[in-house]
Amino acid sequence: MKEQKEVLLSVQHLKKYFHVGKNAILKAVDDVSFDIYKGETLGMVGESGCGKTTCGRTCIGLYDRTDGKVLYKGQDVHALEPKEKRSFKKEVQMVFQDPYNSLDPRMTVAEIIGEGIDIHHLAKTKQERQDIIYKYLELVGLNREHANRFVHEFSGGQRQRIGIARALAVQPEFIVLDEPISALDVSIQAQIVNLLVDLQKKMGLTYLFVAHDLSMVKHISDRVGVMYLGNLVEYGDTKDIFKNPLHPYTKALFSAIPVPDPDAKMNRIVLEGSIPSPANPPSGCKFHTRCANCMAKCKEVAPQQKEIEPGHYVVCHLYDDV
Ligand code: SF4
Repeated sequence: MKEQKEVLLSVQHLKKYFHVGKNAILKAVDDVSFDIYKGETLGMVGESGCGKTTCGRTCIGLYDRTDGKVLYKGQDVHALEPKEKRSFKKEVQMVFQDPYNSLDPRMTVAEIIGEGIDIHHLAKTKQERQDIIYKYLELVGLNREHANRFVHEFSGGQRQRIGIARALAVQPEFIVLDEPISALDVSIQAQIVNLLVDLQKKMGLTYLFVAHDLSMVKHISDRVGVMYLGNLVEYGDTKDIFKNPLHPYTKALFSAIPVPDPDAKMNRIVLEGSIPSPANPPSGCKFHTRCANCMAKCKEVAPQQKEIEPGHYVVCHLYDDV
């Protein structure tokens, strides 16, 4: 019998536009749909400015939506009643890209981690509060002596561990990891990713992992979504996407992944031009100005999402007749 997966977060035709200047509208997220299943990691990749961070933030209600819906456990994230909002804010957390700016330098580590514990009344006594803080510090590879120190006393990797402990201390179910390793030294990145994998197994967490490092996305994700100029152009199981990328943009992105073999031949696809402005996107397929496979209809008609193999979706006219 086929295993039935539980949808934790369902994103349906989500749009997030920003007004920039007098009449310009920046379409950061432009009709994006996907589901995230309980216990999985969905990796979201794309060049900077593609809308992946805005998408993650809109999914957890940090930004209001322009159109469409985000359902968390069936509830509309942007229309929660105050009581539902409180429990949503506890169950859903975010780890930010920059561990230098996302932690208050005037607070001790204990105060940073304790804030969420206090807001959500998770400790009955001072001792219990302290025990929870120690527990999560140790869980992320720090120790209780770190609790009374200030953020400037820590390295970048340690600060990100504090950010993760802060998120975990309120016992969330779903965490948006917004480029959690991109500000860190390469030598530290793998440690943080391995910590996140380990915590997911221990605590049954669900992740949306926003990143541009494809090797890390491959390592951590069960499924991958590829964004270009506010659109999700391809998504599916990680093994299918990496083995058989379908969209010309995905192929170009993946062709740039370094191979750990000096004799291996790199067939790198170099994209022409730079990413167009989301305030003035190309007509038809938004990728047509950079696509080597561009056909006449690509300039006029926006392609629709199509399921090419079970669970593997692509948005490209090359697959219209498949
Ligand atoms: Fe390229 Fe056309 Fe496919 Fe867009 S729809 S990715 S332009 S082939």
